Amino acid sequence: MDLTFAPNEAQFRDELRGWLAANGPGPEPEGEDAQYAWRRDWQRKLHEGGWAGVHWPVEYGGRGATLVESAIFYEELARSGHPLPANVLGLLLGGPTLMVWGTDEQKERYLTPILSAEEIWCQGFSEPDAGSDFAAVKTRAVEQPDGSFRVTGQKVWTSGAQYSKWCMLVARTDSGAAKHKGLTYFLMDMGQPQVQVRPLVQITGESEFNELFLEDAVIPAENVVGGVGNGWKVALTTLMNERAGLAFGLQVRLRVMIDELTQIAAENGQLEDPRVADQLGELHLRCEILRLTAYRGLTATMKYGQPGPEGSLTKWMWSETNQMLTQFAADVVGPEALTMGTKWSYELLRARGNTIEGGTTEILKNIVAERVLGLPKAK
Ligand SMILES: Cc1cc2nc3c(=O)[nH]c(=O)nc-3n(C[C@H](O)[C@H](O)[C@H](O)COP(=O)(O)OP(=O)(O)OC[C@H]3O[C@@H](n4cnc5c(N)ncnc54)[C@H](O)[C@@H]3O)c2cc1C
Repeated sequence: MDLTFAPNEAQFRDELRGWLAANGPGPEPEGEDAQYAWRRDWQRKLHEGGWAGVHWPVEYGGRGATLVESAIFYEELARSGHPLPANVLGLLLGGPTLMVWGTDEQKERYLTPILSAEEIWCQGFSEPDAGSDFAAVKTRAVEQPDGSFRVTGQKVWTSGAQYSKWCMLVARTDSGAAKHKGLTYFLMDMGQPQVQVRPLVQITGESEFNELFLEDAVIPAENVVGGVGNGWKVALTTLMNERAGLAFGLQVRLRVMIDELTQIAAENGQLEDPRVADQLGELHLRCEILRLTAYRGLTATMKYGQPGPEGSLTKWMWSETNQMLTQFAADVVGPEALTMGTKWSYELLRARGNTIEGGTTEILKNIVAERVLGLPKAK
């Protein structure tokens, strides 16, 4: 692993920095819907500038950036303080999954509107009784004589469903087959009355995610991705991309917050307190480990062509470190960090979900133990 940047990578970073400095999304408006619309406009701007699907191949409308350039993109985006594009699930999960498993027609139909934020995507995997044990999904898709499917069941924690046109839906097509084998991966049109979206309110007061109630929802045969009964494998591609994709941006976000806290502690004279200095040192160390581990994951992706289980390690480390940092912020910033409506209180409350979303820490530890370290499987 070579940690120095080649001249063309440094040039890519400079060009991107210049573009981000000149083309920000402007001030964030108040209110969830307005904020979402703002992030959607931001993605349109990124798309027009050729920066929406940086890591997507040129043939699919992307920039064809290398993995290192893509990592630089997420680092620089986080450093600029600009938000992630609105269709982050389409860009990082849906598009790359279609590139691996989709038919030519599906790639032709779906990829461009993902990039331009014309069609937003959500991920309908989790159910009330199927989260970590995701293969236990009960939502049923029944094939009709014309080859289409009728889908009935419930999904939960579906982020961004209220803004989405397409849902990456995993449903059971064969209840007689072994758990992992009877699943199929679909693209479900959210704009039908048989799909009801009910927002759930989070601890932060936002409704980032929703319940989905499906009552005979219709999915045409051409919206099956990767073949009937092959949903488990297709879904794994989505999950691996979920855990690997954001690592670079997230570690820079941590770095920005650690530097901010260090600055506040210095101004308050708290750096003289060994407990504060010790905690800042620990956070600094974790952030550096995270950065280097993210690069190690990148090397593995370059070798195997797809993100591997190492992404689980960075997601686990980041989520725990972010919780540690946001809790520690209350000691440094003071009561403001515990007052609703402030930046630090938002970060503290939002961080609670980090060790659950995208795979809980316990599940990620199992993946790291079994698939990275080669330890025996849990019974
Ligand atoms: C902010 C946020 C956004 C989300 N967005 C989406 C989304 O867009 N789409 C979507 O499909 N889902 C989404 N989720 C759901 C998320 O993927 C699930 O919450 C997660 O997979 C855990 O499932 P669960 O909540 O059913 O908990 P459970 O699986 O019931 O787990 C409960 C507890 O048991 C532990 N546990 C379970 N199994 C094991 C095991 N084998 N070994 C050790 N411990 C175990 C878990 O670690 C956890 O602590 C989101 C969640 C959050 C918090």
